[in-house]
Amino acid sequence: MKTNSPLTQLAAEAAGCERCPLYKDATQTVFGEGLAPASIMMVGEQPGDQEDRAGRPFVGPAGQILDRALGDAGLDRETIYITNAVKHFKHEMHGKRRLHKRPNQDEIKKCRWWLDKEIVIVRPKLIVALGATAAQALTGRKLTLTRERGKALSLWDGQQGMLTVHPSSILRMPDETARQEAFAGLVADLARASEIAG
Ligand code: SF4
Repeated sequence: MKTNSPLTQLAAEAAGCERCPLYKDATQTVFGEGLAPASIMMVGEQPGDQEDRAGRPFVGPAGQILDRALGDAGLDRETIYITNAVKHFKHEMHGKRRLHKRPNQDEIKKCRWWLDKEIVIVRPKLIVALGATAAQALTGRKLTLTRERGKALSLWDGQQGMLTVHPSSILRMPDETARQEAFAGLVADLARASEIAG
């Protein structure tokens, strides 16, 4: 992100956001980062524990999977813009551990305020929704991942989208074979995204 760019200014505004209650228990707003304009914009669900501490999106275990999948699909993270549908880490305490909690409809809707502004600045040819929450934030409806993934989706005003899995879902797979298959599926979807975005 360039200094004094519209995105830097937007991120500075979002740092003080209190539009929903999620700011109260999180360390900081985790805004998007990357190129603007960019042909591909990726939207995840929300920052995780490590992202919350670092203040950067997709730097934890899911981010490492995403980086590897991008590389295998021939995409460079430096050439895309990556953000989340919800910019604060929603979690609940289990002992001393902060465990991810899915944001609700109202929180997703309130945070769409920032996502809309990012889209206007980034002007992506293609928005890739990583997982069902991001897809819901972008379309306002629930999409079936198994049916819709990898296909071009028409979002609004001609904006093209695509749905694929959230990389964290690969971490939750029960065994190594399932993880490898899910990873290959993510790489195939990202390669398709690269084709669509040109
Ligand atoms: S989650 Fe989004 S809307 Fe809610 S306080 Fe954070 S930045 Fe604002």
